[in-house]
Amino acid sequence: MIAASLKAIRDALPSGVSLVAVSKFHPVERLMEAYQAGQRIFGENRPQELAAKVPLMPSDVQWHFIGHLQTNKIKLVLPYVCMVQSVDSIHLLEAVNRWCLENGRVVDILLELHLGAEETKHGFTENEILSIICQTEVHGVRIRGLMGMATNTDDLSVVEADFARIHALFLRIQSMGLPDFDQLSIGMSNDWPLAVKHGATMVRVGTDIFGPREY
Ligand SMILES: *Cc1c(COP(=O)(O)O)cnc(C)c1O
Repeated sequence: MIAASLKAIRDALPSGVSLVAVSKFHPVERLMEAYQAGQRIFGENRPQELAAKVPLMPSDVQWHFIGHLQTNKIKLVLPYVCMVQSVDSIHLLEAVNRWCLENGRVVDILLELHLGAEETKHGFTENEILSIICQTEVHGVRIRGLMGMATNTDDLSVVEADFARIHALFLRIQSMGLPDFDQLSIGMSNDWPLAVKHGATMVRVGTDIFGPREY
């Protein structure tokens, strides 16, 4: 099941678009099934759950943190992840940067743009992101790009407008010649094909791979 779902998604993704298997709430046996089908990038959104799964999975897994992260929890996350996709405040950016400098570890990060959705209050405005890009000195982390979650609606024109907006900001920042700024993480189970049309370099897919989550 998991192997077949992964294959279907991989076959549909253009080369150059990476697939993050969002494994939150699923037990490691299911993650291992995905691993055995060749999946290496996994996304988790809760610090304790991530820290518990890491030692149970092979060491070549690339962990991405994709959830809201409180600064008092970064110690549980930063030793293990290669990317924090959900940097959504200056306070967090500075805390992650400080941890990286103190621990001699470079972590890739994405800046989360707050898209339309009222349901999430997390993320920066476009102007905040531009001012971080232009003014903030963070040498402990590598700012690799942007992450966004489209409005949670069946109206695909709304989703499409969200993707178009984040893609435009992504291109604008890229045109400033930033080194390493090459990742646009948009698209989930319901909307990843649309995200790919709008320039996604990374899609974060949970339900389409693992089935529904049990809360
Ligand atoms: C849970 C989650 C996903 C995956 O959602 P699905 O609809 O199950 O594909 C993607 N991104 C983030 C930030 C998430 O929290």
